[in-house]
Amino acid sequence: MQSHYRVVVIGGGIVGTSVLYHLARRGWADIALIERAELTAGSTWHAAAGFHALNDDPNIAALQAYTIRLYQEIEAESGQNVGMHMPGGYSLATSPARWEWLKSEFAVYQTLGIEARLATPDEIVADCPIVDPAGLLGGLFDPHEGAVDPHGTTHAFAIAARRRGAEVILRNRVVALAQLPGGGWRITTEHGTTTAEHVVNAGGLWARRVGRMAGVDLPLTPMQHHYLITADLPELVARADQMPCVTDLEGFTYLQQERKGVILGVYERNPRHWHTEGADWDYGMELIPEDIDRIAPELAIGFARFPSLQDAGIRKWVNGAFTFTPDGNPLVGPVPGLRNFWAACGCMSGFSQGGAIGLVLANWIVDGDPGGDVFGMDVARYGAFASNDRYLRDTTAQFYARRFVIAYPNEELPAGRPLKTTPSYDAQQAAGARFGVVWGMETPQYYAPGEPGFVETPSLRRSNAQRLIAAEVAATRHAAGLLDTGVYGRYEVSGPGAEDWLERLLANRLPPLGRLRLAPMLSPAGRLMGDLTVTRLAPERFWLVGSYYLQEWHLRWFRDHLPPVGVQIENLSESWLGFSLSGPRSREILAALTREDVSNAALPFLACRRMAVALSDAVVARLSLTGELGYEISVPAAQQRALWGALTDAGSAFGLKPIGMRAQDSLRLEKGYGVWSLEFTASTTPAMCGLDRYIAFDKGDFIGRAAALRERETGPAQRLVLLAIEATDADVTGYEPVWSAGRRVGYVTSGAYGHHLGLSLALAYLDRPLAERGANQPAPLAVHVVGEQRPARILPEAPYDPRGERLRG
Ligand SMILES: Cc1cc2nc3c(=O)[nH]c(=O)nc-3n(C[C@H](O)[C@H](O)[C@H](O)COP(=O)(O)OP(=O)(O)OC[C@H]3O[C@@H](n4cnc5c(N)ncnc54)[C@H](O)[C@@H]3O)c2cc1C
Repeated sequence: MQSHYRVVVIGGGIVGTSVLYHLARRGWADIALIERAELTAGSTWHAAAGFHALNDDPNIAALQAYTIRLYQEIEAESGQNVGMHMPGGYSLATSPARWEWLKSEFAVYQTLGIEARLATPDEIVADCPIVDPAGLLGGLFDPHEGAVDPHGTTHAFAIAARRRGAEVILRNRVVALAQLPGGGWRITTEHGTTTAEHVVNAGGLWARRVGRMAGVDLPLTPMQHHYLITADLPELVARADQMPCVTDLEGFTYLQQERKGVILGVYERNPRHWHTEGADWDYGMELIPEDIDRIAPELAIGFARFPSLQDAGIRKWVNGAFTFTPDGNPLVGPVPGLRNFWAACGCMSGFSQGGAIGLVLANWIVDGDPGGDVFGMDVARYGAFASNDRYLRDTTAQFYARRFVIAYPNEELPAGRPLKTTPSYDAQQAAGARFGVVWGMETPQYYAPGEPGFVETPSLRRSNAQRLIAAEVAATRHAAGLLDTGVYGRYEVSGPGAEDWLERLLANRLPPLGRLRLAPMLSPAGRLMGDLTVTRLAPERFWLVGSYYLQEWHLRWFRDHLPPVGVQIENLSESWLGFSLSGPRSREILAALTREDVSNAALPFLACRRMAVALSDAVVARLSLTGELGYEISVPAAQQRALWGALTDAGSAFGLKPIGMRAQDSLRLEKGYGVWSLEFTASTTPAMCGLDRYIAFDKGDFIGRAAALRERETGPAQRLVLLAIEATDADVTGYEPVWSAGRRVGYVTSGAYGHHLGLSLALAYLDRPLAERGANQPAPLAVHVVGEQRPARILPEAPYDPRGERLRG
């Protein structure tokens, strides 16, 4: 072991070795991996090591495709056999709902360019004769499904990394970590001490313990997982080629050929955690005793779907543990609040994702940029709340038990709730609110006033809640709607250096006193890092408003760019709350609660003022996301309940209705407004989505200016357009392909039914030449809606109030 390294990776599983390899491939020298025991000594050695390209998060699906492509490359480079076989795999549909869901997923995979095809029951049985076709409606075939040898693959990464100069240190546990004043780390091991500029936590089953050495509690926990290996099956002995893998989604089991028998793995509905704090340090390469009674209900379904297993001997039971996070995706990237401490853990699909995690993390360490939108696996997508033991147990158990269960876009799941509520929660509940959850915060989705027994049916189509959402839209368009803004993140930036710093951080010019502006925030590569609203409350005091769930992500970016002195940042996201009041009668409602002049002359569009509203000293900003005259009213959190009371009391005479996020979506789409994570992401550029009109190119330098200027010259490859779709009883939800003359020319980012206009609407990225032709297309456009192609047309301007007269009036 050297006395100093540029990077030390802790953990020699599939993930740690991939990180080491990718750093070496980027040409970094003086890098080492330190492993407690032998390579693969955590979850990795007992994995079934199956892989697949399909994933519900399109960005992660793309990275999985990379992982799979890498296997042959790494085998060639290392000379180590990785034991790869890729016969493809079927996901089975045995219910009409599942078949519909698979067809709509298939459309999404077309958007992503992931090769897949729908298959009939006959095709499936011809390919996989051990499948009983009872109730089988069809399946989705993923040609990139298969398995590798976990031992060979991990060693291949390690060998290739070593050949490129990296060091692999075995049988030496890291026992302590201490941050050094310069930002590096002192690493104490069983056999000595070293220092490193960067430390990567790839500790797998021990990653929570490794995190705690550095002072962070990461939201991941090990859970048990079973599979069994059968003796030879006659159907497989008889064939020369390998049978494709099969996942029986309704049956909670997956199956892959293992020699002439099969592996049958189970995602049971009654899962068990294992050492939630992380494995014991002396945990060896041993199995957990199997718990067959607990998984018996799912095994019974599996044995019915694959009847030949009933007579086959069981060669081996495997019950091992691997780590889960609340949403099942890994934790990757710079850990917020620490310098040069990186996460590469919480990975439950090491053989689908390990290669990609290595690539992303190496890019991030070397370039300071992961290379695209990886928020779905970013460690900063969680806050401290997610590491609470009960929260973690409840959410990970929910994820595990629902691993193969259909996730409907209108479904709200119960685990870990309610955790955070705004003070008006009880009052909103009494008013009939049905809540969703954003970063632990209960958020009204819609209201069912006077209908305590109303339950929304989970569906891919328009649900029975549509009439309630329509009523909220109508109230907002004709009178006023009141939306809880607990889903906003708010930051106060102040100090003598605040103005200069924000001018560099944000791409728009800062507003004058008492005004606000939309300000894109860019990475040096010119991609979006935020779509913030910036308000100047005092000469040296600003508010930035963004999305509530991006707090850790934004604060990490702010802190990374903060000068040593002169600028203070305070996170107000939970100490200031409020409401968005919008609609033609919103001014009258506000006027009833304040003695201030709120006329258009005194408080015009994009003005902001402190004023007394009912009992509170509020910050009132004149803007809305509904396209109507509107005000965002913020007050100290403890006063938010009083504000709710005042607004709803005063509003009742004017037809005010509380509204939820679903109505907001319908309203914003009628105006063609994009939002973060759908239209605006860390993969999009301002020119793609139209936010370039908020860039002040002439204001001097700011982060991302050079890249944005280059893009202004060349133009983006795709542009955002608003589509009206001839849909019948369903709307798009996101990532559905857009077609022109049989060619895929774009994809949907979000959609909703525009209740006021009676239009099914979608925002979509379209190849620029077509996007720029607007309504004048060379061939009719079509969009997949729940797996079915429907005609669509580009709306050249927002179909509701295109000139923004209502917003400004
Ligand atoms: C029964 C079972 C079946 C599975 N099937 C599949 C499958 O089919 N497909 C799939 O993709 N995944 C599967 N998995 C999951 C897969 O095994 C994991 O996703 C993957 O192995 C995680 O790799 P890792 O490198 O993150 O962690 P680990 O393999 O746990 O590696 C972590 C390493 O860090 C070392 N370490 C920890 N702390 C320290 C320290 N302080 N100092 C030095 N070293 C340290 C450990 O010794 C260990 O070697 C399965 C897992 C199990 C248990």
